[in-house]
Amino acid sequence: MAKSYSDPNFLPFTRPSIDEETIAGVAEVLRSGWITSGPQVREFEAQLSAWCGGRPVRVFNSGTAALEIGLRLAALSPGDDVITTPLSWVATSNVILEVGAKPVFVDVDPVTRNIDLDRIEAAVTPATRAILPVFLAGLPVDLDRLYAIAAKYELRVIEDAAQAFGSTWRGTRIGARGDLIAFSFQANKNITSAEGGAIVLPGQAEVALCEKLRLQGVTRSGEDGMDVDVVGGKFNLTDVAARIGIGQLRRLAEFTARRRELARHYFRCFDKSLGCELPLDDFEHSNWHMFQVVLPDYMKRAEFMGRMRAAGIGIGVHYPAIHLFTLYRGLGFREGQFPHAERIGRAIATLPLFAAMSEADVERVCTEASRILREAKP
Ligand SMILES: *Cc1c(COP(=O)(O)O)cnc(C)c1O
Repeated sequence: MAKSYSDPNFLPFTRPSIDEETIAGVAEVLRSGWITSGPQVREFEAQLSAWCGGRPVRVFNSGTAALEIGLRLAALSPGDDVITTPLSWVATSNVILEVGAKPVFVDVDPVTRNIDLDRIEAAVTPATRAILPVFLAGLPVDLDRLYAIAAKYELRVIEDAAQAFGSTWRGTRIGARGDLIAFSFQANKNITSAEGGAIVLPGQAEVALCEKLRLQGVTRSGEDGMDVDVVGGKFNLTDVAARIGIGQLRRLAEFTARRRELARHYFRCFDKSLGCELPLDDFEHSNWHMFQVVLPDYMKRAEFMGRMRAAGIGIGVHYPAIHLFTLYRGLGFREGQFPHAERIGRAIATLPLFAAMSEADVERVCTEASRILREAKP
């Protein structure tokens, strides 16, 4: 793996773009004498809040922490059910288990690959407390419909927008409306702080508890006062990471525009006669976090990945269906329950897409993919 990433001809499925200004800024933080949560964290939060229409934002050392604290702020606890998608990074449902609640999976729409809103109401029971939708590859669900369902059944919404920073819904930025919205700044996301995450809160009332849950339940007062009245974790972001995030946020519009151009180029160049399912061509809402194809039955994904790797191209898997992992089978989930998520989870392949890529890189991926598919086609 390390060898491929150091080979200049290897095209990974993603790579962050960290500029010299950011690197110099990080060096300054390292020399400043204050490297953990401090002024850079406060500045990053202020900039994220401005981005999200002035709503309160708090940052964490991961998107997973942001999601887990979102669930705790929504007062999720044992006995509660949370409706979510089986086609996501496993963090999405692990945090539901982490707070002692139960994930209730609803199959995806095979076109958007997001939770199928048409199936949510049938899954609501008296134990349902919240919906946790995921915006896979940066494509949001229909937020108007989602929040109408939530209002009808009095459910909280925690948006797993880990992949959707920079996406919009009908002209409004993800994060600027809604209940609780969680972002991730992990290295592969559209903007990164190496590791990190953020939550957008519904209002100022949630800020104090959010900050306590982030750091050991501690509140401070006066010169030396300290109290603890709730169990909190160790989820604070460092100033080193926050400074990377600040440098990245400055580039967001440029990164998103570039990803859109490259995604359009994929649609132009990818051979549509070989039976792959392409992503929904949404150029209004998506930030194009990923360009994913579902491979045809005749092409085994592992073989496709191996052959692409041999051609110097990295392919990602995002994601196998969560309910088929051993942990989830142990909770009673079974093959056959969510056929769309299972089929997509077995055959989905993430093609390289990142801001520093060139049009020629897209063409190279399309040429190699179509050669490999054509050779395998019966
Ligand atoms: C990345 C990601 C997360 C978790 O974020 P981390 O920062 O890696 O903890 C959660 N959900 C989805 C859909 C993600 O892509």
